[in-house]
Amino acid sequence: MEKYQVAIIGSGPAGFTAAIYSSRALLSTILFEGMQPGGQLTITTEVENYPGYPDGIQGPEMMEHFRKQAQRFGTITRFESIKKVDFSRHPFLLFADGDKEYEADAVIIATGASAKRLNAKGEEKFWGFGISACATCDGFFYKNQKVYVIGGGDSAMEEAMYLTHFASSVTIIHRRQEFRASKIMIQRAKSNPKIDFLLDTVVEEFLGEEKMGIKKLTSIRVKNVITGEEKTLPADGVFYAIGHTPNTEIFKPFVETDSSGYIITKGKSAYTNISGVFACGDCQDPTYRQAVTAAGSGCIAAIDAERWLSEHYSKLKE
Ligand code: NAP
Repeated sequence: MEKYQVAIIGSGPAGFTAAIYSSRALLSTILFEGMQPGGQLTITTEVENYPGYPDGIQGPEMMEHFRKQAQRFGTITRFESIKKVDFSRHPFLLFADGDKEYEADAVIIATGASAKRLNAKGEEKFWGFGISACATCDGFFYKNQKVYVIGGGDSAMEEAMYLTHFASSVTIIHRRQEFRASKIMIQRAKSNPKIDFLLDTVVEEFLGEEKMGIKKLTSIRVKNVITGEEKTLPADGVFYAIGHTPNTEIFKPFVETDSSGYIITKGKSAYTNISGVFACGDCQDPTYRQAVTAAGSGCIAAIDAERWLSEHYSKLKE
């Protein structure tokens, strides 16, 4: 069985940054890329808010840079998914695709979170080409355009307000009359003249055009859930604010999570409740969810793992 000092599960900015720091600390490091190599950034188009890229960069290209940088210092990367873990014994045991097993002295969980989907018609086609789950990342691309935000929670209100800095109009589409968001956020959104509301409404279909391989969302078909009335509305962009699901299911038998499934880390550190298991990036961050904050927390996790290994490893080997 292959054995490493550090095993990193996840290949977004958090996982690769942890890998750069871990392998530069001369720890034998393996990184499992999982189902979506490169993480959520590989499903966005241009990234303009990651420092160091003054002209912006395509998400997949940026993740290729992360990967190369980690490999340069010796990180072994595998296009495998970890299906199960056993953190009840040490070294920790990881079960990958194809009945492969790995042992690791320390594990860094960087499995991210996935934006919830509606699974409406046309969603798959226009995801990243008019549909986004991050106003902070993509709002800038919708200057003077007509955008919609789906959801009725705090994120929907916050994203809608943020989008008013760019868009010509922002309409919040919510499936009910009542909002889940806090009163103050609702009040702020309602008092913003650029924000409209379309309530008791769901999106049934995303429509658009494709010219020379370039896709562009142009309208959405919505339905009033009370009357059943349907209409098609012009749309340049649609932002999902219907929640995220942290990818933490396989760790739950061992690692403490909050009620939404986010891994609980201690204070400002990456320590989890299991000694030697660390977490970083969106799987433990319901708040900021940015590439740069994920990268920062990946650095923290690797430094914590390195210090933990030097303090505990000789003791554990006895
Ligand atoms: P959330 O509170 O879970 O709200 C999700 C919204 O999406 C709900 O209104 C829900 O509708 C709707 N929704 C879910 N699935 C849907 C579907 N399939 N179709 C249509 N609508 C759907 O998520 P969130 O807004 O991302 O907030 C998550 C947490 O972060 C909350 O605790 C929130 O308070 C916090 N947060 C705080 C701030 C802040 O304080 N500045 C900002 C952002 C987030 P229903 O209401 O009908 O279920």
